[in-house]
Amino acid sequence: MPYLYFDSAATAPVRPGALRAAAKAYEEYGNPSSLHAAGMNARRLLDAGRAQVARALKCEPGEVLFTGGGTESNNQALFGLAKLRGKRSKVVVSTDSEHPSVEEPLKELERQGFTVRRLSTVNGVPDYDGLRKILAEAPVAFVSVMRANNETGAVYDLPRIRRILDECGSDALLHCDDVQGFLKIPNDRLSACCDLISLSAHKIGGLKGVGALYVGKRAHLLPALLLGGGQENGLRSGTENVAGVAAFGEACAETLADREGLSRVAELREEVLRRLRDSGLQFHLPDAHLPNLLHLSIPGVQSAWALNFLSERGICVSAGSACSARERKKGNRVLKAYGLPDAEIETSLRLSFSEQNTMEECVVLCDALRDCMKLRK
Ligand code: PLP
Repeated sequence: MPYLYFDSAATAPVRPGALRAAAKAYEEYGNPSSLHAAGMNARRLLDAGRAQVARALKCEPGEVLFTGGGTESNNQALFGLAKLRGKRSKVVVSTDSEHPSVEEPLKELERQGFTVRRLSTVNGVPDYDGLRKILAEAPVAFVSVMRANNETGAVYDLPRIRRILDECGSDALLHCDDVQGFLKIPNDRLSACCDLISLSAHKIGGLKGVGALYVGKRAHLLPALLLGGGQENGLRSGTENVAGVAAFGEACAETLADREGLSRVAELREEVLRRLRDSGLQFHLPDAHLPNLLHLSIPGVQSAWALNFLSERGICVSAGSACSARERKKGNRVLKAYGLPDAEIETSLRLSFSEQNTMEECVVLCDALRDCMKLRK
């Protein structure tokens, strides 16, 4: 069934080039560790994909570790850093609005004896002064802060965090979950200020179940979580997902080549906002935000009703992040951290756009959202 898809932050439509690259790579069925011709062909595809991801990250190919997705990258980063730095300090700094794939490992580290200090993120702004205070109190093992929040679209200032660490003379390593920000924020070079960066292919038009972890020079001794055949420089054993990596590389290359794409997406977001400004919908607009995400509440209309109503019209949106559907039952931790009252949390929706959306689709979406207001109790 054709549908209007406004849920790219959950997973983006697969890019045509990425699909073609995966199909081609599946024909190359050799194991990249094999020393015969079939193995070497698969190795070449892996190397090419690594070079493409490295170009997008503005780093060396040798600094790109492929994983099974953003969740694995975050787990590898946090548990690896805890092992690497845990003898120097048991203090970790993060925020109160991280994705569950960061928050749950942090809770596990707390169970193991670490102290986790979570910076508040009211209105989508991390408490940067709070970070200075923590750094003044005790040595910190590492800091883990996402770049773009998957629910509100707020963008956190990682270069500023790096500056604070440097100004305070801290040697804490800096990890960033950049699953939502990667290739969505123009003119940046996150690898210049972070030691570890988590990425996920399916958020930029690649396939699900593939991700990457940038491992910068200061973190090169990061211990592995998966032990075995020693693939990925010994950091991630297991036969590599060649087709997934080839598609990831191609998704990066296509996104970089489509320079206009990001501004088209930003225009769609602005147009939806403009059309609905006087509609009675409540928009939550962090000052620094992703160009592709819009978070709002429909006063008096529970998220689940709105979701069903829109879904019946073939329109796909999200009532928060897809990954935290279980968490939502406990009350949305991230939206509370943003400072939203319960009434707005229970009625909230997330719209997220991609290069494949059109202005005509957005007009249909706006009309449907206005109709949704009529469901009000
Ligand atoms: N981090 C953030 C901010 C996310 O939005 C997501 C997925 O929604 C993840 C991590 C997990 O990525 P994956 O689905 O590749 O495991």
